[in-house]
Amino acid sequence: MKPSEPGLTALVAALRDVPRDLILVTTGAGISLASGIPTFRGTDPDAVWKRDVTELATARFFFEDPVESWRWYLQRFGNLLEKRPNPAHRALVALERWQAARGGDLLVVSQNVDTLHEQAGSRNLVKVHGRADRVRCSRVGCPNGAPKGSLPRAGCGEEAFRRDPGKATLPRCPACGSVLRQHVLLFDECYDEHEDYQWERVIAGATRAAVQLFVGTSFSVGVTDLVLNAALLQGRPTFLIDPGLQSPAPGVTVIRDPAEEALPAVCAALGVAVDAASV
Ligand SMILES: [Zn+2]
Repeated sequence: MKPSEPGLTALVAALRDVPRDLILVTTGAGISLASGIPTFRGTDPDAVWKRDVTELATARFFFEDPVESWRWYLQRFGNLLEKRPNPAHRALVALERWQAARGGDLLVVSQNVDTLHEQAGSRNLVKVHGRADRVRCSRVGCPNGAPKGSLPRAGCGEEAFRRDPGKATLPRCPACGSVLRQHVLLFDECYDEHEDYQWERVIAGATRAAVQLFVGTSFSVGVTDLVLNAALLQGRPTFLIDPGLQSPAPGVTVIRDPAEEALPAVCAALGVAVDAASV
């Protein structure tokens, strides 16, 4: 740990103080940056969350033009599943194990649809914006669609569409024939659209957490606001690890380091071993 970093020291002390409680970690795109995934609203040169996203990442656009919607998604996010976790993801797995061994628990609420937390080994995990490794039927009420159903992306028929994008090759639901869609929360949708987003578990975690840690996330979407407000209302120690962001509110301690440096440093200070990369 850098001795000049009082925020890290405070975070380590706060984590050490809550052996039997819930530690809630809310992650955003910043944690995946070191794995080669551009952020959405960040200042990195490849940040993709610009003008087009709020227009194209919508259910309205999908139903208007499913071919263009699929084409856009694959162009932007088609290689997400090839990415691999970085030391920040692995450090969170180590902290989860450490906290469980002390009789508490650690929950990661990720806004990322990549699979890096799962690949690293996080078990107590909510994918509140959905997941890139699954798709679902666009017909609500179909067993493969909202509010409960989904299908693995592998085998959904996407390869034919990639080769020759068009209406005839759109991936379709094997049960009802409707066009498949991404299993992600779109801009004009709500957190309660699908049970997989586990919104109630997020609210319960935000209410119960003894320490709140935000990693690589801005505070521009609903989930971060809700979780942050819950922490501040209850006066719980609250931290943000992000190299570029200002404190979103008084009472939040900001650690201005990249997550892939700060989280392993926290583990080292706590004496928690982090697994080496498996790839
Ligand atoms: Zn269907």
